[in-house]
Amino acid sequence: MEPAGALALFDIDGTLLRRSGPAHRRALERAVERVTGTAVSIDGIPVAGMLDRDILLEMLARAGTHGRAALRLLGEAGRAAQNIYARNCPDLSRKVCPGVRGLLRALQRRGIPCGLVTGNLERIAWTKMRRAGLEEFFIVGAFSGDAPTRGALIRLAVSRARRAGLIRRGADVVYVGDHPNDVKAAREAGVRIVAVGTGVVSREELAACGPDHFVADLRALRRGDLIR
Ligand SMILES: [Mg+2]
Repeated sequence: MEPAGALALFDIDGTLLRRSGPAHRRALERAVERVTGTAVSIDGIPVAGMLDRDILLEMLARAGTHGRAALRLLGEAGRAAQNIYARNCPDLSRKVCPGVRGLLRALQRRGIPCGLVTGNLERIAWTKMRRAGLEEFFIVGAFSGDAPTRGALIRLAVSRARRAGLIRRGADVVYVGDHPNDVKAAREAGVRIVAVGTGVVSREELAACGPDHFVADLRALRRGDLIR
């Protein structure tokens, strides 16, 4: 297949899926308890728009583990969280946001590759996609742990797509996300951003970040908004 002239990257929580339940939060909590021996709550951590890695570090701090000691435990905590989540992820097929399936099918028909750029750890992300019935649409991705910031994750996903021969140099890249952090990351990475109001941030706050396009949900997206 010819390398495509465009790439569409998607955040997961609040963008592809909403209200996917407590299994993810519980998996992070149980993982931290497993590696530290201390039960800590995730409550009060503003998890929306955060990377799992940073959430785990915050929770390790709550368990009294800081600095290098925390970094040493991070890999083990991440592996535990992914194992726990894979065993406990519910059926997510009814949690898919409005307009997502239609949009992904349309991109597939046009031969535009789609990727994931998410703060989720990799196996958590793919488990969610599988349980939501969306896995087949995504062929590339970058996940928490692959790079230190979301902006760096976007750049990594683009370079992975290029190395895999999915897109040509200079391809039009767009990121779809639901959080001010997604808008900021897209700016850092130099890609266009479509913000969608299906997450936890108010539509006013999100629109005020100045995305290239803002839609209340993905059903409202017009053809030229996403891929030029
Ligand atoms: Mg999100």
